[in-house]
Amino acid sequence: MAVTSVAGVINEAPQPVDVRFARKLEEFRSARSNHLGYPYNLDFAAGASGQFAGFLVNNLGDPYAGSHYATETCDLEREVVDWFMRLWECQDPDQYWGSVGASGTEGNIWGLYLAREALPDGIVLYSQDAHYSIPKGARILRMDSRCVASRPNGELDLAAFATTVESLKGRPIIATLNCGTTVKGAHDDIEAVIDVLRRSGYDRARRFVHVDGALNAMVLPFDAAAPSNIKPSFEIEVDSVSASGHKMVGTPMPCGVIVTLKRHVNRVSSAVSYLRTNDTTLMGSRNGHAVLALWERINRHGRAGFTKDVVECLARARRLHEALVAEGVWSLLNPHSITVVFPEPSHALVKKYQLACHQYLAHAVVMPNVTDRLLDNFLSDYIRWWRLSDVRSAEHIIQEART
Ligand SMILES: *Cc1c(COP(=O)(O)O)cnc(C)c1O
Repeated sequence: MAVTSVAGVINEAPQPVDVRFARKLEEFRSARSNHLGYPYNLDFAAGASGQFAGFLVNNLGDPYAGSHYATETCDLEREVVDWFMRLWECQDPDQYWGSVGASGTEGNIWGLYLAREALPDGIVLYSQDAHYSIPKGARILRMDSRCVASRPNGELDLAAFATTVESLKGRPIIATLNCGTTVKGAHDDIEAVIDVLRRSGYDRARRFVHVDGALNAMVLPFDAAAPSNIKPSFEIEVDSVSASGHKMVGTPMPCGVIVTLKRHVNRVSSAVSYLRTNDTTLMGSRNGHAVLALWERINRHGRAGFTKDVVECLARARRLHEALVAEGVWSLLNPHSITVVFPEPSHALVKKYQLACHQYLAHAVVMPNVTDRLLDNFLSDYIRWWRLSDVRSAEHIIQEART
């Protein structure tokens, strides 16, 4: 029988906690090696930021003001944000504000909130291929919104957008644009959208453009061949950009970054004396460990490391796409994208490779941990399934997915 003391359980053969954790670790290790479907860069080293695990690291309130709670990383957070400001071409970082949040979703919701406070009568326009967090954010914030058609490859249909703008007869517009759509990895033509708004008489005071770059705002800046009209850049007069930290950056916890114009944040900030800070973030308590992880990643890996990753991922995505097409499989790979779309295979393969599926389509997101070997294994499994599957029904699936 176990001997217990006030200090806890002692002399007991393996603690159930340890047994369960050991099992979880095993599960995680095998799940990691076949992972193909979600846009997560699993190729980060555990890192020195793990040594802070024994501390409650809480970046309370505004990252530029801090609080009286001293175990925080607001200084490193400002450096992380500054790195993203430069990546997204903020000419004068002093004119901008940014923070590290819980996820890409938080960035989208905060972008929508800032937009609503800038344009209380504004209407949110989002594409059919937008992430569900955009319409969800609009609902939470009770903002009027309208879905605009996208093209079969997933990018916003500019003609449909222009028609919608015309129909709004001058009402302020909050446009949310995609830099990498969730399912098809498509990029909206940001420059062309702003051009449509400008030509319809929308100056900066009556429009707000938020770029949802959760997926590819960390990809396109490292692709030298990507044209400027689809890149996340404050040079082309967008108002906010957000990205996930656990996608291309690679962190052991979900997190995200948002950058916006300082004047949008000043509009909503109100001082909270309890915090000794401005109330400029959706969350009060904020994850300082995520800041440590992001800061370590960008400083150790650097622009050179991410450039190498992106070049390799783009090439491997192309290889996967071309191998599928060579087998007669319908597949989509958008330019400058790492998302390869194909018909949803058998349930066994969906489970094995942890594929995200949507309307009979599945995709592989070729992140740095997706090795050539993993792609070869997947291709041989997929092609075996494809050859055995009923081609007529596969065509039917594709037809359905396209409409
Ligand atoms: C993943 C994703 C999101 C949501 O980001 P989370 O960090 O998962 O909250 C939003 N938009 C797009 C386009 C995404 O791919």
